[in-house]
Amino acid sequence: DVVVVGSVNADLVVGVDRRPGPGETVLGSDLATHPGGKGANQAVAAARLGGRVGIVGRIGDDGHGALLRDALAGAGVDLAHLAVTPGPSGVALITVGPDGDNSIIVSPGANARLTPDDAAAARDMITAASVVTFQLEVPMPAIEAAARAAAPAGARVVLNLSPTAPVPDEVLALCDPLVINEHEAAWLLGGPGETAPEEMGRALLRSGPRSAVITLGADGVVVADADGTTHIPSPKVEAVDTTGAGDAFTAALCLRLARGDSLPDAARYATRVGAAAVRQPGAQTSYPTPEDLPT
Ligand code: ADP
Repeated sequence: DVVVVGSVNADLVVGVDRRPGPGETVLGSDLATHPGGKGANQAVAAARLGGRVGIVGRIGDDGHGALLRDALAGAGVDLAHLAVTPGPSGVALITVGPDGDNSIIVSPGANARLTPDDAAAARDMITAASVVTFQLEVPMPAIEAAARAAAPAGARVVLNLSPTAPVPDEVLALCDPLVINEHEAAWLLGGPGETAPEEMGRALLRSGPRSAVITLGADGVVVADADGTTHIPSPKVEAVDTTGAGDAFTAALCLRLARGDSLPDAARYATRVGAAAVRQPGAQTSYPTPEDLPT
């Protein structure tokens, strides 16, 4: 159904009362190590929903790499194109403050070594997919090569523009949809942050993608395509931890598109998956099976 081209990271999480200043040391809580990375999160989320999912990515030959591989394998993700690079895996160094606020440093490690050759090696998997999805934690040349292979073969290209980075116009033009949160959309449009989401959706379409989905957290999403813009509300849930909710949303959207849903129908389903993901702590640990979804 879905091939994810993207990052695989170990999230190293420490709780702190306050962050250290330059030259300072503070004591934190016990270290928690979780499988993460936007690419791996999306692959696991789509697999947990019952999708047939493959990943194109790179891990290191360190202990984190083994943990990350196990997490993907445990979810049933096809690992034929998860390559191993000598050296460290990608890690996210995360401190969580007393209010639950995150500060994050990402060390890309092996993710930075994903190349157009990796995309070429995965060509059969990519061209056989219904949907190929990307985020921006791996190098753009690899994304570009995979997107160029996917589109002519009839695979639908979905790009989650996160974290923000410049995207070549040719890649943007393949996106159907571009998935983006409000902050990222404001960055891409370069305009004032005050614009109404529907207006942002129309502006995004003028910037190149075939369609766009703007995620609005608890307020749901706006879908913009040739038929106009539609606001889809989120189910009301008690949010415990929003980490990885955007990844769960994008994964579910891709899976439903792969199964033939219209974009608004796929987005409606995906808001239920995003809402389920915020009800539980963590990223991959919070991802629902179809039975866990709110109505
Ligand atoms: P990101 O995590 O990328 O910033 P959002 O915060 O917009 O993205 O969240 C992505 C999706 O997750 C939303 O569109 C929605 O479906 C779901 N979601 C996030 N926060 C909540 C919430 N508090 N209640 C219900 N759904 C939520």
